[in-house]
Amino acid sequence: MTKGMGRHTVAEGLAADEYAALWKDITTAIWDRLDPLEEQIENEERIPYETVLPILRETGAFGLLVPRSYGGSGLSIAQYLPIIGEFAKIQGGIRVIVHVHNSFAHALSEIGDEEQRRAILPGAATGDRSVAFALTEPDHGTGADLGTTAKAHGSGYVLDGRKWLITNSDLASHFLVFAKTDPGAVSALLVERDAPGLTIEPLPETMGCKGGQHGLLTFDNVPVPRSALVGAEGEGQDHLERALEISRVFIAASSLGTAERALELSIAHAESRVTFGKPIAHRQAVQRYLAEMAIDVYALRGMLADAAAKWDAGERIPAESSMVKQFGLEAVGRVTDRALLVHGGIGYTRKLPVERLYRDARLNWLEEGPPTIQYMVTARELLGGYRP
Ligand SMILES: Cc1cc2nc3c(=O)[nH]c(=O)nc-3n(C[C@H](O)[C@H](O)[C@H](O)COP(=O)(O)OP(=O)(O)OC[C@H]3O[C@@H](n4cnc5c(N)ncnc54)[C@H](O)[C@@H]3O)c2cc1C
Repeated sequence: MTKGMGRHTVAEGLAADEYAALWKDITTAIWDRLDPLEEQIENEERIPYETVLPILRETGAFGLLVPRSYGGSGLSIAQYLPIIGEFAKIQGGIRVIVHVHNSFAHALSEIGDEEQRRAILPGAATGDRSVAFALTEPDHGTGADLGTTAKAHGSGYVLDGRKWLITNSDLASHFLVFAKTDPGAVSALLVERDAPGLTIEPLPETMGCKGGQHGLLTFDNVPVPRSALVGAEGEGQDHLERALEISRVFIAASSLGTAERALELSIAHAESRVTFGKPIAHRQAVQRYLAEMAIDVYALRGMLADAAAKWDAGERIPAESSMVKQFGLEAVGRVTDRALLVHGGIGYTRKLPVERLYRDARLNWLEEGPPTIQYMVTARELLGGYRP
C-alpha cells in the first residue's frame, strides 16, 4: 500500500435482525414501488422525484452509510454492497441517485471535520441534504490537472472555474469541489448550492441510467468561507483518493447487481424460448453463454467479498478497489453482451429490460474514473510493493 495511507474508521454495522428488517423494507420498495416506474422514466427521460424521493426517504435509503451517531444506519461495507447491487437491477437512474448520495455522505463522514459532519450528515440521513461530487472539468483533466481555482480572499476564498457531468446537481445541497488553492495544491471545499456566483445548468440526456441530472457548474467569483475547506489546504488529492477508493467498490457492486439480473433473465429466457422443438437452454452453444456469465458473476462476487472484508477490518484497499472496479465493468460488459445474445432479436427491443441493463452498465466505465486510471492506481500499488 502507498506509504502514509494509514487506516480508516470502521462502521459499527447493524445487528443481523435490524439488517434483515432494513433489507426487507428496501428490497420490497425496490421491486414493488420503484421497478414499476421503469417504463415511465425511460420514456420521459425524467425521474419522477415527487414519487421516488419519498420512497427512498421512507425506507432509509439515504442514511445507509451515515454513521448512527448522526442519525443513519451506519452499515458496514459488506452490508451496504448487496443493497446498492439490488438498486442496480432496476432502472439505472435511481441507482445513480442512491449511489452518489450515499458515497459522498460516507466520504464526508471520513474526511469532514466535526462541524461539517454535524452541519450536513443528519440531513443527509433523511435525504434533506446531499453532497454531490464535483471533480470533472470540461476544460482540463482530473486529479492534479484542474483549472478550477480557489484563491485566498479576505478570510476565505473565491472560486472560479467550471465542472461538468456532476450527478445529482439538481438535488444536492452541497458540492464537494476540488480546486487549486495554489498552482501546486489541490484542495477540497464544501460549497453550498445557493452560493452567489454559482450557476447550475443541465447537460443533455445520457445513453443509460436515464432521468437524473449531471449538470454543468460554473463558478464565477464565488465567495467561500474558510470553514468550507475540508481538512487542510493541499490535502485535496488525498481526500479524493480516499473518497474514490471505497466508491469504486460501490461501482463494482453495481456491476454485480446488473450482471446478476442479466443472468437471471437469460436463464429464464433460455428455458422458455423454444426453437426447433426444444428450449434454447438445451443447446450447448447457449449453455456456454450462460456458463460464461455465471463465471463472471461468481468471480466478481468473490472479489467484492474480499474487498469489503478488508475495508471493514480497517484496511486501506487502493489496489483492490481499482482492480474490482475494473474487473466489475469488464464482467458486466461481457454478461450484458451475452444476455443480448441469449435473448436474440427481442432482447434488442424495449419490450424486455436487457437492452436497458446493457446501456445502464456502460456508465460503470466512467464513474469514479475510466479504466486508464484503474490500471494506473493498480500499477502504482504494485510498484510500491503491494501484491495481490
Ligand atoms: C453520467 C455521468 C455521471 C458522472 N458523474 C460525475 C460526478 O458526479 N462528479 C464528477 O466529478 N464526475 C462525474 N462524471 C465524470 C466521469 O467521472 C468522467 O467522465 C470520467 O472520469 C472520465 O473523465 P473525462 O470525461 O474528463 O474524460 P477524459 O479525461 O477526457 O478522457 C477521455 C479518454 O482519454 C483517456 N485519458 C485522459 N487523460 C489521460 C491520461 N493522462 N493518460 C491516459 N489516458 C488518459 C481516458 O482514460 C479516456 O479514455 C460523470 C460522468 C458521466 C457520464
